Amino acid sequence: MTEGPAPIEQQRILRTAIPGPRSAELHRRKASAVSAGVGVGLPVYIERAGGGVLVDVDGNQLIDFGSGIAVTTVGNAAPRVVERIQAQAADFTHTCFMVTPYEEYLAVCEALNELTPGSGEKRSALFNSGAEAVENAVKVARSYTGRQAVVAFDHAYHGRTNLTMALTAKNMPYKHRFGPFASEIYRVPMAYPFRWPTGPENCADEAFEQFTSLVHAQIGEDNTAAVLLEPIQGEGGFIVPAPGFVRRMADWCAEHGILFIADEVQTGFCRTGDWFACEFEDVAPDLITTAKGIAGGLPLSGLTGRAEVMDSVHSGGLGGTYGGNPVACAAALGSIETMKAENLNARAKQIEALCVPRLQQLAAKYEQIGDIRGRGAMLAIEMVAGAGDLSPNSVLTGKVNVYCHSQGLVTLTAGTYGNVLRLLPPLAIGDELLNEGLDILEQAFATAL
Ligand code: PMP
Repeated sequence: MTEGPAPIEQQRILRTAIPGPRSAELHRRKASAVSAGVGVGLPVYIERAGGGVLVDVDGNQLIDFGSGIAVTTVGNAAPRVVERIQAQAADFTHTCFMVTPYEEYLAVCEALNELTPGSGEKRSALFNSGAEAVENAVKVARSYTGRQAVVAFDHAYHGRTNLTMALTAKNMPYKHRFGPFASEIYRVPMAYPFRWPTGPENCADEAFEQFTSLVHAQIGEDNTAAVLLEPIQGEGGFIVPAPGFVRRMADWCAEHGILFIADEVQTGFCRTGDWFACEFEDVAPDLITTAKGIAGGLPLSGLTGRAEVMDSVHSGGLGGTYGGNPVACAAALGSIETMKAENLNARAKQIEALCVPRLQQLAAKYEQIGDIRGRGAMLAIEMVAGAGDLSPNSVLTGKVNVYCHSQGLVTLTAGTYGNVLRLLPPLAIGDELLNEGLDILEQAFATAL
């Protein structure tokens, strides 16, 4: 095994303005080489990364509160992940599992079957991206039930392929001018406590009532193959469904022979303090999609479900050239090993315990902070116009985000109205960097308001 570079010191260092001159130069090159359709949130070009730090081409060290959108849960270039990738890449890089299979694919499926909620027999299949896992969940659900309709929620995000664009709620930037979209997709209101018209206390009951009556009146239970829900919505703004909603919805689906698909692409693998966010409501979905955190940064996704459902598809019906690539599988095994060895579920809970009181303090100080929510290391601040006026404040969100970037803190925004700042630190981040990041966030509000 080749010796890797020395570990990156877990420290924020600013040597230039952000972005620095070399990043700016590369960004000019981007404009002439890369499609303008591919946007960049913070045009700082990264050279190395580890733990909770990103090192850019100008030698700046940034604090990472984004994990490449919830991917590097185990930390960037995590040692067990790197070791397994290197060993696997030296052995073989590809055969195509559908042509001549290999054990690593089996080991990842076995881990998924064991770790996902539900005690019954399960099966999995591997793909490359979250969107592809969702596409396949819909394929399996339609094949198993013989029904076509799929129900998705307001504020949902499921990807950018044609079917997943149809499932995604937000027009700009995901769907604008990209239609027509796949058919037999229906949308229902999300149990969004902060914005529920009659107040959060009524949210679970009323959202459940609206959901069941819409499915009954507009689709028909017997035509409905599946209901697809992110147990905490990601791109939609880290919306935590009102307590009890997921449980009731899953039970109702089961009564009507409708499959409940949990999209845990963003929430899965320790992010919320559990292996999967559904565990919080003690719900075992029929099908569950995973990606992002599963493989420490390599492209890999999974679809896991009850054996009876997953085995109902004809042989050859699922697959793809690269799905479950051996190097990506090796990375997943290293990533899962790290999560267990370092008890990253507990770490996510510690991060919540450290961050939430500080975010609550901020909320008490600024009336423009409408809501603090999330679970584990998936936390968000929703910004509004002011006390009593919940109009989304995307301008303030943008200002706070830009200030954080200028100080070397990588933050992300989210939300249908662009008014949510989300925190998704790698679980490998230390308390010092977390606190320093929160200090910067505090300064950001003080500067912006
Ligand atoms: N589902 C959810 C819940 C997601 O958060 C995402 C990505 N943000 C996707 C699906 C799509 O994943 P990918 O970008 O890997 O296709």
